[in-house]
Amino acid sequence: MANSKFEYVKDFEQPDILLPNTWIVVRIDGRGFHKLSDHYAFVKPNDRRALDLMNAAAVEVMKELPDLCIAYGISDEFSFVFHPTCQLFERRNGKLVTTIVSTFTAHYIYLWSIYFPNKPLQPPYLPSFDGRAVIYPSTRILRDYMSWRQVDCHINNLYNTTFWTMVQQGGMSNTDAEQELKGTVSADKNEILFKRFGINYNNEEEIYKKGSVLYRQYKLQEPKSAQASMEDDTSAPEEKQSRSQQDKLKKLRRKAQVVVDHIDIIRDDFWERRPWILS
Ligand code: ATP
Ligand code: ATP
Ligand code: MG
Ligand code: MG
Ligand code: MG
Ligand code: MG
Ligand code: MG
Repeated sequence: MANSKFEYVKDFEQPDILLPNTWIVVRIDGRGFHKLSDHYAFVKPNDRRALDLMNAAAVEVMKELPDLCIAYGISDEFSFVFHPTCQLFERRNGKLVTTIVSTFTAHYIYLWSIYFPNKPLQPPYLPSFDGRAVIYPSTRILRDYMSWRQVDCHINNLYNTTFWTMVQQGGMSNTDAEQELKGTVSADKNEILFKRFGINYNNEEEIYKKGSVLYRQYKLQEPKSAQASMEDDTSAPEEKQSRSQQDKLKKLRRKAQVVVDHIDIIRDDFWERRPWILS
């Protein structure tokens, strides 16, 4: 654009570049999904279609943004992780967050009718998401962040599963169930489920207990003891080197299949067997 006397307004823009050499996590969360899930009659406590839709939208985000290393989703939220070397949008906070949020939302809405064919979207109940970026200075802390989200998934799911079983199968009112669960620990909830309803929480579906982790699939690493299964014949990217090497890596990342897994990401095993995710 040509210079004009109005150009000085550009100087009011504040820089928002995220600290170099740190992990960037963009976490998005559905706005008012409690209400939205009521309106479209999501199954309680876990609507499988809604989770599959979240995952499908997140897979598209991973495909559009090869800089993303991994993503983790539970309920109406998703965390997307950029590597410390990421230079996308010069690491500008606003650009990264808004691009993730709008790309995710666009795909979520585009794919909605596949997962909810009999429930067309209706204003004012249109899905939207907020988002924020947080930086983490070490891989250890990034891993603790991921663990924090998975622990949250477990705690919420155990509570919700027990609560809704007491209501749906036990015929209790919401308030009574809530009252009884006040101050209980995990063992108490497991016992209520098992003794009163014959439900072994361990047998609940992994997607509900563990959430969903998305990453690019290459050849699995031999685990320390048991044998690894070879799931794909693309080989994992090696150490980072020259420019052309980096371009090659980028191509590899673009080509690699994005998989959706429901698996423990707190212990080391997941990361040791897939060293390319954080390298
Ligand atoms: P906010 O706008 O502050 O995020 P919210 O209503 O979205 O408010 P959250 O804490 O994000 O509140 O919780 C999301 C809610 O959406 C859950 O408590 C649950 O009621 C509902 N929900 C999300 N995903 C599912 C699902 N797959 N199945 C059933 N309910 C779901
Ligand atoms: P970036 O991702 O960096 O924003 P961009 O391609 O979107 O890249 P912009 O500077 O945002 O670049 O410019 C938007 C471009 O989109 C315009 O230059 C024009 O080519 C096109 N465009 C947008 N709106 C219209 C329109 N209504 N009619 C024709 N072209 C349009
Ligand atoms: Mg423009
Ligand atoms: Mg929120
Ligand atoms: Mg929400
Ligand atoms: Mg939420
Ligand atoms: Mg533009």
